[in-house]
Parts: sequence; structure tokens; C-alpha cells
Amino acid sequence: MRRDPLILGAGPAGTAAAITLARAGHRPVLIERSAGPTDKVCGDFLSIDAIEWAHSLGVDPTALGGEPIRTVRLTHGGQTAEAALPFPALGLSRRTLDAALLRQAENAGAVVRTGQTVRRLNRDGDRWCVQIDGQAALTAETVFLATGKHDPRDLPRPGTRQGAIGMKMYFALAPNAARALEGATELTLFPGGYAGLQHVENGRTVLCIAVRREAFQRYGGGWAGLLGAIGQRSRRFAGTLEGARALLPRPLAVAGIPYGYLASPDGLFRLGDQAAVIPSLTGDGMAIALYSGQKAAEAWLSGMESGGFQDNLGRTLAPQMRLAGLLHRGGTGGPIQAAAVPIVRLFPGLLGHAATHTRLRRPARLAS
Ligand SMILES: Cc1cc2nc3c(=O)[nH]c(=O)nc-3n(C[C@H](O)[C@H](O)[C@H](O)COP(=O)(O)OP(=O)(O)OC[C@H]3O[C@@H](n4cnc5c(N)ncnc54)[C@H](O)[C@@H]3O)c2cc1C
Repeated sequence: MRRDPLILGAGPAGTAAAITLARAGHRPVLIERSAGPTDKVCGDFLSIDAIEWAHSLGVDPTALGGEPIRTVRLTHGGQTAEAALPFPALGLSRRTLDAALLRQAENAGAVVRTGQTVRRLNRDGDRWCVQIDGQAALTAETVFLATGKHDPRDLPRPGTRQGAIGMKMYFALAPNAARALEGATELTLFPGGYAGLQHVENGRTVLCIAVRREAFQRYGGGWAGLLGAIGQRSRRFAGTLEGARALLPRPLAVAGIPYGYLASPDGLFRLGDQAAVIPSLTGDGMAIALYSGQKAAEAWLSGMESGGFQDNLGRTLAPQMRLAGLLHRGGTGGPIQAAAVPIVRLFPGLLGHAATHTRLRRPARLAS
């Protein structure tokens, strides 16, 4: 008899794995450091695959209040291009989505331990030893590592030291600005990064920014400097935020995002951002998290070893990661960034094409 896996981290990846294992009659233990629902650095864009996977796990993002998104808008300097999204999408806060997934995991039979932070994870013979703040250490034959943007001590993912910065804030926009953004996800390109704006549930608007570390320092190393720098280059962006009221006491931030990272087998089942970090402009990270969580659980249930799972996952994600990496490099600076909007204005279909081909799964009706 194999003992049930220990799942570290209750974001979309960890909860998807927990729900899948619990539905198969197991009682996985899910360890999460937050004591209750929290906001997370994420653009809150739920792509069609994320919506469908959430549904298959018993969570309906539309019923949770997700705001429909039908259009994608790209802006740079004074120029804007727009195209219809080739698939339905939603704006839904991570606080709401993650809480619903966690409830679902608990209802399905997973043992949920919140408010517990994993400090260390080491191999001890044929077991993993997991050290948790203020608790007795746990041992497990199988660990699903789903701590997302945060690495356990001693297990840093390569690239985190030079990795990008992510920042986020919720706003109540002025009425005209809110109307102009209705039904759209808007990506503003600026030297060193991009900023995404869209509505989420309860009349709020999310602004989420990904910026290279050196550009962030150049803009003063803070939120105000970053907003000022983007607003100086884009009147549209500055106009959207004019008269907006910030809804969090301070912006959320995460550093060291290793865009492009793809895990190699190391004895763990790595899920979500611990398996692959797709550039944020694709808005497909949550889909990858939900998919990899489900697939890891299915692999374990079928008796597959972690190495086989990680190899398969890496092969599945590689094409999408390659294209996303190219778009990310082009979108964060240089001549491609400057040419992006004029090109898309000439060929608006390109935006939909990029959106479709950076999806994890391309349902036949989307393939162009
Ligand atoms: C700037 C930015 C914008 C993005 N925008 C989008 C978007 O619009 N759409 C999209 O689909 N994706 C987006 N992503 C990607 C998306 O946020 C991630 O891919 C997704 O959150 C990965 O899910 P996860 O479950 O692997 O990790 P996470 O969502 O990070 O969840 C990990 C969980 O583990 C917990 N945890 C961490 N450390 C510990 C510890 N030591 N002990 C116990 N628990 C721990 C955390 O509290 C958290 O609940 C964006 C990412 C960034 C950086």
C-alpha cells in the first residue's frame, strides 16, 4: 500500500491535485501557509482552458462572478490595436477562485492544513522529510510540490535571482474609464515590461504588471515610480487610472519570477509554477496549474513515477512555452515591442492567433 501524497501549496495546482486524489477515494494532506483566502500576484485572466478545468473540478468561475472578457487590446506609446479573443475568458480574482478550489478539495475529502508554512524539504533515504514552522516534521513517500512562486529553502528554481518583478493592485475606476474597459483585457507595453488591466468580480479592476528587474530599478524601484513611468509613455494608461481609487492598502509584489523555467525530474511531482513558469502575457499560468495538478494526481494513481510524469508534462508544455518566451522577449523591449502595435493593426488576426497558440490545450474550434 502506498501512502497518499503530501501536497505542499494550495493554489490552483495543489488544489487540483487534491480534488482529483480525493475523488479517487484518497485522503491527501494539503499544506498551505495562508490561514485564509488571500490576494495573489496574478492578472486574474482565466482563459478558456482554465475555465474548463475549473469546471471539471467542480468549480464554476462564472457562478463566482467572473467578468466576461471578449476583446484583447494591445497598447504601446500612443497606439492601440484591438481584436476579438478567439475564445471566451473571464476576469476573476484569485482570492475568490483559490478559496472555491480549496473548499472543493476539503469537500471531496482532502485533509486541509492552512496557516502552516513549509520551511524545508529534504530527501531522507527513500522518503521526503518536510519541516513545517511550529509543527512536527512530516515524512512522505511522495510529495507534490505546488508552492507556486515560492521555493522551499534549498530548492530554488534556476533563474530566480535575476527573475522579473510582478506587482498588482485592485482599483475602483472612474465611471468613464470603467466603461471603456468593459469586456476587454488591455495590455500596455513599456520598456522592460507590460501591464495588464481588466475588470474582475464586484465592480473592481485589476492592474497587474510584470517588469524586468533592471527596468524596475531604473523606474525608481517602487510602485509609484513604475506607474509614473508607464503613464508617461502611455496617455491611455494614465487616463484609465485617473481618479481611480486603490482598494488594497498597498500593492502586492513578488520578485524573482523565473519566466521560461521548465522543471526536470528530481524525485518530486512538481506542479504549476514549480513545473513551468509561462510568461504572464499569455494568461495561461492558471490553466497549466490546474492541468498539471490533475495530471500529477492521475499519474500517481496509475502508478507512474515522478520522473515519467515530469518528462511527459515538459514535452506537453514545451511548444507553448517556446512561443510564449518569444512573445515575452519581443513584448518587453526593443524593435519588436515598438513594431507590435502597428503590425497588429495591419493584421488584427495575429493577436487571436498568438492567444490561441499560447494555450495549453487548443480545442479544435480554436485552432486557426
Ligand atoms: C505578474 C503575473 C501575472 C500573471 N497573470 C496571470 C493571468 O492573468 N492568468 C493566468 O492564468 N496566470 C497568470 N499568472 C500566472 C499564475 O499566477 C500562476 O501560473 C499560477 O498562480 C500558478 O499556480 P500554482 O498553484 O502553481 O501557484 P500559486 O498560485 O502561487 O499557489 C501556491 C500556493 O502555495 C502556497 N505556498 C507558498 N509557499 C508555501 C510554503 N512554504 N508552505 C506552504 N504553502 C506555501 C501559497 O500561499 C499559495 O497558496 C501570472 C503570474 C504573474 C507573476
